[in-house]
Amino acid sequence: MKKPITLGDILAARKRIAGHVIHTPLRPSQSLSDHVGTPVWIKCEHQQYTGSFKLRGAANAVLNLTDDQKAKGVVGVSTGNYGRALANAARNAGVRAVICMSELVPKNKVEGIRAQGAEICISGKSQDEAQKEVDRLVNDDGMTMLPPFDHADIIAGQGTLGVEVLEQLPDAETLLVPLSGGGLLAGVALAAKSINPAIRVVGISMERGCAMIESLQAGKPTSVREWPSLADSLGGGIGENNQYTFDMCADLTDDFVLVNEAQIADGIRAAYVDDQQVIEGAAAVGIAALRARLIDNPGRTVVLSTGCNIDMSLHRRIIGGEDVDLANEAEQDSPTSEGA
Ligand SMILES: *Cc1c(COP(=O)(O)O)cnc(C)c1O
Repeated sequence: MKKPITLGDILAARKRIAGHVIHTPLRPSQSLSDHVGTPVWIKCEHQQYTGSFKLRGAANAVLNLTDDQKAKGVVGVSTGNYGRALANAARNAGVRAVICMSELVPKNKVEGIRAQGAEICISGKSQDEAQKEVDRLVNDDGMTMLPPFDHADIIAGQGTLGVEVLEQLPDAETLLVPLSGGGLLAGVALAAKSINPAIRVVGISMERGCAMIESLQAGKPTSVREWPSLADSLGGGIGENNQYTFDMCADLTDDFVLVNEAQIADGIRAAYVDDQQVIEGAAAVGIAALRARLIDNPGRTVVLSTGCNIDMSLHRRIIGGEDVDLANEAEQDSPTSEGA
């Protein structure tokens, strides 16, 4: 039986990963504060090593392996931020990492992960086929599979972000948290509410298919149609046999908010123009929600800006004010990302 995750696990994670991650700045945003009429801070976690918070969970999970597991190495499936994070965490711990992905994954993403020191294993035409290769490495080579969100050590690692925010701003009233598989929200909300039960946690995702929100509405893990979105890191399902994040998101989230593509683009643009931050779509959903006035009575608010891995030509187009709709562009090769 699974054991519930506690603040103690998060504090242990914090000790374990100290030195492997940086404390990211909490930056007051004058323009967002003016816009909503209440003080707003941006937690600049997009400045984390590897360009996203996913390093916290990955580092915690890798460092918490037994010596035997470390000797045999880790394996994961990811085309995005989690792949980079796991590769980096493993390299720093001197552990072999294999990241499996399908043939359809674009070259720049493959190279981003290879650059972090992982072995890349390209197999099949879908994420599911890549998963078969993972199963083989686990069964034949004794490697350890580390999933992107539904794992106690990953959740505890992401929770260190919540502890850090409350140290930086003990009287925060509302946290705006991007939501996909829910590892981030589960960890951050557990940490924040253990420290201050009155704090409000809002999960924010994109209108184009948030599997967690639809699953919570359906009362069980549900898959959603995948659309190309500016918030590509928020794509993907929550897993049919979800162990942790479904229940934790149900228990710990006060509100859910959805933003559309134009609002996400507006968030990316505002982060750049007003706050000098280059962030990706998934990281912009909180700023987007505030700017679209989708958060009632936010109070002293912290927006988690979670990642910066965005294609630079796409960023340039958005900053230039172009009305980008990726659904109209990606038809030819649209490899649906698993979002992590
Ligand atoms: C993975 C990711 C998220 C969502 O995290 P989950 O734990 O899957 O909910 C948000 N933002 C960025 C940049 C990400 O890479």
